[in-house]
Amino acid sequence: MTNQAVSCDICGQPTKMIGTRLCDPCWECKTQINSLISRNPEAAIKFLKMKITEAEILIEKLKVFRGTKDKDMEVENGDHGGDEKNSTENLSANQNVM
Ligand SMILES: [Zn+2]
Repeated sequence: MTNQAVSCDICGQPTKMIGTRLCDPCWECKTQINSLISRNPEAAIKFLKMKITEAEILIEKLKVFRGTKDKDMEVENGDHGGDEKNSTENLSANQNVM
């Protein structure tokens, strides 16, 4: 029974944490966000909205990236090639701020 794994409620990764149903990174993330919400709900909303926007931008960029891989024609419009790296770095930097 203890070897049983469940899917993480947030990211879907298999996890053995059948009590919380969260993998370690997601549990940590949820705990920190809950802490921020209780300390400063307004800041939490602002922060989470910012994160939603970042995630949506990343999803769009990944779509574009996958698209240009198939269609080399669109590479000429790829002025944002440098930005992709920067936003990934910003994401890591923001995590450290938390
Ligand atoms: Zn997870």
